[in-house]
Amino acid sequence: MQDTLIKKIFDVDEVRRDFPILNREIDGKPLVYLDNAATSQKPVSVINAISDYYSRYNANIHRGVYSISMEASAAYENARISVKEFINAASEREIIFTRGTTEAINLVAYSYGLQNVNEGSEVIVSELEHHANIVPWQVLCQNRKAHLKVIPVNEKGELVIEEYKKLLSDKTAIVAVSHISNSLGTINPVKEIVRLAKAKNPKIAVLIDGAQAIHHTHVDVRDIGADFYAFSGHKMYGPMGIGVLYGRESLLEAMPPYQTGGDMISRVSFEGTTYNELPMKFEAGTPNVEGAVGLNAAIDYINSIGFGAIEEQEKMLLDHATEEILKIDGIRIIGTSQNKASVLSFVVNGLNALDIGIMLDTHGVAVRTGQHCTEPLMDKLCLPGTVRASFAFYNTKEEVDVFIKALKKVIDILK
Ligand code: PMP
Repeated sequence: MQDTLIKKIFDVDEVRRDFPILNREIDGKPLVYLDNAATSQKPVSVINAISDYYSRYNANIHRGVYSISMEASAAYENARISVKEFINAASEREIIFTRGTTEAINLVAYSYGLQNVNEGSEVIVSELEHHANIVPWQVLCQNRKAHLKVIPVNEKGELVIEEYKKLLSDKTAIVAVSHISNSLGTINPVKEIVRLAKAKNPKIAVLIDGAQAIHHTHVDVRDIGADFYAFSGHKMYGPMGIGVLYGRESLLEAMPPYQTGGDMISRVSFEGTTYNELPMKFEAGTPNVEGAVGLNAAIDYINSIGFGAIEEQEKMLLDHATEEILKIDGIRIIGTSQNKASVLSFVVNGLNALDIGIMLDTHGVAVRTGQHCTEPLMDKLCLPGTVRASFAFYNTKEEVDVFIKALKKVIDILK
């Protein structure tokens, strides 16, 4: 019953009309955009919301006593409420706007990390992580003379949970893992990862890098139980330059500011400064109002499509692409996890990923090639890089066919 309902409502042709860029041509060929894991395209409702903000009520926010400043402030705070509801946080005070996932993770590493990671402490990450969820912890560990521990992946690209259990110790201060791998599409058992950490020691803080999950599946931060959850607007059909750090209120309250300046203060004198309340304590300076407005529109858009339809369409695309690509000689799929999002990473025997990507572009097909900001993972897999096609719900089965046909031609030419 539910499935029939979803099928009736979801019409990919209709959905595609919401995304002006999908009409682009590249050298006379329709753009086939399969780099959604790097960034998603934007629906016209997001573009219009930003344009409307600048056309009608652009003003600096908070403390403005005139109408358009109050309108802009309300729009910014409404976006916060939407985010809170979207991820089921307990309060708006737990929603910090950042530049993106990277800044959100850095905020936690510097603010929480410098206060709670001491000499000899351990921070656990995984081999699957994006550089954004490795380097801030590595730098923190160097600063604090702490140790970085790494959960290994198996040959399918899944985290080895038995090894994770062994890494958890009395010295563990932080666990930071991704919800979904950007390189392989692996969906990690984040709820279990949190549960195991908290069972070891409720004081271990767990951060989930949700950059690749927030647009694929319904994220409920209270159900997952993590202390921090980070994501970027641009991966979820919203604008670039805005992202979110969800943090458990009790932890955020105890954390020092990450950046200081205007807006994050309560009172300033040359003798000393007191800080603003949450969430403003972590939002120094003029914020990205345009970004928040666009993000709010993106959330409305996702809700109008529904995760049921999104997941169904993306699974169909992944299954079809996987089946078709395996018919091509010399292809090896990298990342064959049981639970996998719509990311298809592969290598072709004897061919360079970069050459394949450049040649696919001549067919209008946009894919990503290389290490995908996961160099330690590529080292572990002994690969210089992969070709990665990543699908969004606005992609079609026909586009997958165009990609596969183009790939066959490219391989023929390059071999
Ligand atoms: N983590 C993961 C898993 C990602 O895929 C990305 C973006 N590729 C990031 C973190 C960093 O996100 P941003 O560049 O938007 O800060």
